[in-house]
Amino acid sequence: MYLGKIPHPYTGIRLPDVLLEGILNSYKANSTAGTLGLSFGRETAPEEVVNTHGYPITLGHTGTSIKEYLTKASRAAQEKDVVIELEADHLIIGSSSMAVKRIAGTFEKKRISEEEIKSSIEYNKKEINEALSTEAVDFFTIDASALFDQKEYSEDKFRRLNLVGEYETPAEKRCAIKFARAIDVMQDLYECISRKKENFGFEISLDETKERTAIEEMDFVLKEWRARGLDVDFVAPNVGFRKRTDFTGDLIELEELTRDLNNIAGRHGSLLCFHSGSGTSSYSDKGKGTYEALLKATNKKLKYKISGVYIELIFELLSRSRHRGVFERAYNDTLGFLREEIKNRGELATEEVKEQVKNAENKSEKSPGEEFFRFNSYLALNFRDESGKRYIREGIINAYKEDETFKELVDKEVEALTSRLIVGLNFQGNARYLKT
Ligand SMILES: [Zn+2]
Repeated sequence: MYLGKIPHPYTGIRLPDVLLEGILNSYKANSTAGTLGLSFGRETAPEEVVNTHGYPITLGHTGTSIKEYLTKASRAAQEKDVVIELEADHLIIGSSSMAVKRIAGTFEKKRISEEEIKSSIEYNKKEINEALSTEAVDFFTIDASALFDQKEYSEDKFRRLNLVGEYETPAEKRCAIKFARAIDVMQDLYECISRKKENFGFEISLDETKERTAIEEMDFVLKEWRARGLDVDFVAPNVGFRKRTDFTGDLIELEELTRDLNNIAGRHGSLLCFHSGSGTSSYSDKGKGTYEALLKATNKKLKYKISGVYIELIFELLSRSRHRGVFERAYNDTLGFLREEIKNRGELATEEVKEQVKNAENKSEKSPGEEFFRFNSYLALNFRDESGKRYIREGIINAYKEDETFKELVDKEVEALTSRLIVGLNFQGNARYLKT
């Protein structure tokens, strides 16, 4: 069901067959109503894309289709009698490879062409339709950060924008130029959803930027969005989090920025959501003191997203089990894939990746904590053999299904990881807020 504006966790179910059991057990044990989802711009894709060989590896890189995760999750939650919300997360405008690089910290200056924007909108609508066809989806998050315009301000340019709100200060006008196009496209997708579905939740993602979100930026986006008569439950700012990395910045500064953003969001009737929630390891949360700072700044009313950390955990467990071969194959083939990317100057050969691969070359022992692997092992789920089989994805699922001891270990560890998030961010018992 659509949960509305209550504090709650979001967890990514990249491998529904393996992750649903532990996650739902944790939600149930903690009387927590939470969201399950996958990112539409990266992690999942329409069935037709997942079933066809030859699409870019970053597109739907979990090998789990929109239809698969929505139907499996809704069935599993019903069987366990747990209240969940199902989200179509990160509908992304722009290319999937640009989007995966963005979350890894590489921001391309390349502008996206009108042609690309148009085909991206079409692709997103196709994804929305597949999600709606399952009748299981309740919530949508849109990320149009590829359209945030960094160009210089000009009065002429400002006058040509189609804005509904009234803006007078230079700061507002600069924000208008930066965000107007993104807002137009988000509105287009929002209306595509609202024409077909009455009751749904909505989130605007502002976090995939190089800089932290400024107060006036969030204020502008929400003001214009509301002026257009559109709803938004959550808004995700950039507060300086990096994917798969603990927050090591100044905690006081984090708390202050978050409090200011939270006040703005509240003034427009929305709550904050935090993306890139995974830390450096599956046991580090987001670094010491980070959860506490967010709780204080938001008065405990927040939404928080994690996803990649579950797959890191699975590889860690595989490496310590009798299925270590599956981990080693993922390790070797991810390294091999990245070497090829670098040699061919492929799309994923960023400076960071080159450095990570160089560091791994001299190591004799293969560890799931090795940087290149932590940051790129998500690709392994989408590696295929000659027959088109996703051999690592299937290797994990088979180990889980055929080895009762391994399954028990995975269920226990996935539940514990989810419960650390729930307890750490004070989500226990949130189901009491639900309107019945
Ligand atoms: Zn995001």
